[in-house]
Amino acid sequence: PSTLCYARVIVTHTEKPVVLRVAAPVPLRRPFDYLAPEGRNQGSLSPGMRLRVPFGKREVTAILLEVVEEASVDAEQLRPALDVLDSESLLGPSMMALCNWSSDYYQHPIGEVFSAAIPKALREGRSLTETHWRLTTQGEGLPEGALSRARSQAKALSLLQRGEQLPETLKAEGVSSAVLRELTNKGLIERCRASAHIPSAALEQEGPPLGTEQAQAVEAIVGGSFSSHLLQGVTGSGKTEVYLRLIAACLERGEQALVLIPEIGLTPQTVKRFEARFKSPVAVLHSGLSDGQRFAAWQAAQAGTAGIVMGTRSAIFTPLARPGLIVVDEEHDGSYKQQDGFRYSARDVAVKRAQLEDCPVILGSATPSLESLENARRERYDHHFLRGRQGGGELPMLETVDLRGLHLNAGISDYLMAAIRDTVQIQKRQALLFLNRRGFAPTLQCHSCGWVAGCDHCDARLTVHMRKRCLRCHHCAAQRALPSHCPDCGGTSLLTHGLGTEQTEEFLRSVLRCPVHRVDSDAMRGADAMQSLLEVAHGEEPCVILGTQMLTKGHHFPAVQLVGVIDADALLYSADFRGEERMAQLVVQVAGRAGRESAGGKVLIQTHYPDDPLFGALRGGHFESITSSLLEKRRSSGLPPYGQLMLLRSDARNERDGEAFLRAVQKEAKPYLPSDCQLIGPLPSAMPRRAGRFRWQLWCLSASRRGAMTAARLLVDRAETLKKPRELSWFIDVDPSDV
Ligand code: ADP
Ligand code: ZN
Ligand code: ZN
Repeated sequence: PSTLCYARVIVTHTEKPVVLRVAAPVPLRRPFDYLAPEGRNQGSLSPGMRLRVPFGKREVTAILLEVVEEASVDAEQLRPALDVLDSESLLGPSMMALCNWSSDYYQHPIGEVFSAAIPKALREGRSLTETHWRLTTQGEGLPEGALSRARSQAKALSLLQRGEQLPETLKAEGVSSAVLRELTNKGLIERCRASAHIPSAALEQEGPPLGTEQAQAVEAIVGGSFSSHLLQGVTGSGKTEVYLRLIAACLERGEQALVLIPEIGLTPQTVKRFEARFKSPVAVLHSGLSDGQRFAAWQAAQAGTAGIVMGTRSAIFTPLARPGLIVVDEEHDGSYKQQDGFRYSARDVAVKRAQLEDCPVILGSATPSLESLENARRERYDHHFLRGRQGGGELPMLETVDLRGLHLNAGISDYLMAAIRDTVQIQKRQALLFLNRRGFAPTLQCHSCGWVAGCDHCDARLTVHMRKRCLRCHHCAAQRALPSHCPDCGGTSLLTHGLGTEQTEEFLRSVLRCPVHRVDSDAMRGADAMQSLLEVAHGEEPCVILGTQMLTKGHHFPAVQLVGVIDADALLYSADFRGEERMAQLVVQVAGRAGRESAGGKVLIQTHYPDDPLFGALRGGHFESITSSLLEKRRSSGLPPYGQLMLLRSDARNERDGEAFLRAVQKEAKPYLPSDCQLIGPLPSAMPRRAGRFRWQLWCLSASRRGAMTAARLLVDRAETLKKPRELSWFIDVDPSDV
């Protein structure tokens, strides 16, 4: 023993200690240094491996970021890591680079960024499941026909000599688990992970011959290295077919494709369409999975067994063994932006990832975001158009209905009503009505004294829900029973004002003989609700489908002949600078649901402002002229995409705390701010009080991305060092989607 000890001392004195810089699973914006566990040298360690490390009084699983020469603290203070959990990196160099970039760009603690990239089971220290059996080195050394006296053992060995096998395969060949146990005890076989086998590129089903524009797009995008593409085409123009062709080419190269879909667009139908085309398995990742399901899909992606990985926002952080293509469908969709914690945009991360992985990325939409259009205009993205509709379905005529002075029933003019009747009763088709407000009515008021039902915790009114006989706040969890009399004066005459989907549904049910389906987050609870609605929509039965923006997300409604936008004004006037962009996208998206397979679809937009230029452009079918005038407005105000926006947001129980804190940050940061950045505020948020907390924001507008990143670091650094009231919390929102 003494010689061993001696040897170790010599080593530590002649060689510098190996210092491991790791990300710990804590909300702190800095890495931590450790010594390598005893006996581990630098050569056996690579970024992206997991380590068990002591952390305070706990032990945690950390991710190795890099091996460094010099520790950031005194060498004597370094504690050794306890164990290395992986024999190779879980993430690989480009995913490590992506996580580091995301942490820096969004100014979010690196340890929490890894939570998006690594499933919970692994972060808790579990091992990658060893699903297969293989020979040990000793087993491989055996001659062929060894153990021939124990017949079933010999059988198992000869199967494993051909390669690793699943337990089910061995069992099917008559190898019992007792036999496997005996061979394990002899040290001849062991469990292992599946080694990546290249997924099949074979097609299950041929696609249709491509149209000219589709073929041009495929031709331009196909290929192995980094390029970014914007694919613009209305619903039904054949974008998905373009994705499918590119995926086929990707699989043929032996590579994997990653497909992002908005939250609400990821239905079993969507997945089925991809599964039906390819023999290769599709791994699906979304927020509804159990930890176990997520882990399995992640492993299939990471090991390379899944040729296609499909998922919502967070799937962008799934490692792939051989990435070859990234698709972001409906790239303008709001669900790509994470609104709490790690506030990233999956669309923007996708473009960065494609660059790091050196593969093409396609952003597809009928109504691209102004950001993407501007990137295309600056030739950062190649812009491809699919102008026609497959099957020659006409694009619907768009018409505004001037509501001024008209009599309305539950928000519906006689003109729209006549069109609905004509559609469902005469044409025997379906009508789709869009109203972006759920509940029965947004306001309850006392007719005697004027009292209005407001939320106790937010600057908001309570929405009347008749079906459930309650009042609900749509901004916090507050809910109470519908009162029978006014709490202020006791009056019993309570009126509702305004309109919600419940009310319009009730009215339509009372005047129409056909079914009326309501599609909003109240009606679409449970996994089956959307499923059965889609079955209705794919049927031929005349009906009315009435819903909120849930309707606009990528679903196909082939039998819809008429689309009605009940209250376009509610969309037009919004406090958010993106209001007009969203309204134009919404109208075009809803309009895109009409008449896909039936000629002569019609879109009626009810508004009090038919002369607004936005409607003029929509009537002319010119989404482009809307977007270019909106871009012009953004340019003159320096707002995105011409300037980069960040918000430092605070919320606190005390009304003035947030303002004071942000003002202090502003004062501290101002002298060091890059010259192309400006700070605006602090301003109260659009809804200053929400769920009992007062919210303020400090705007930072930068002319360059470099300036913005410097400013983000500066603001976060100052906010972290300044003293703040204990219960105040703050966060930075880089490229916010809502202001
Ligand atoms: P999008 O994704 O733009 O909504 P899809 O790719 O789903 O469009 O195409 C709409 C419909 O047209 C689908 O039923 C699809 O199978 C069909 N389709 C697409 N491309 C072609 C083509 N080149 N020839 C015939 N049918 C096509
Ligand atoms: Zn009253
Ligand atoms: Zn509330």
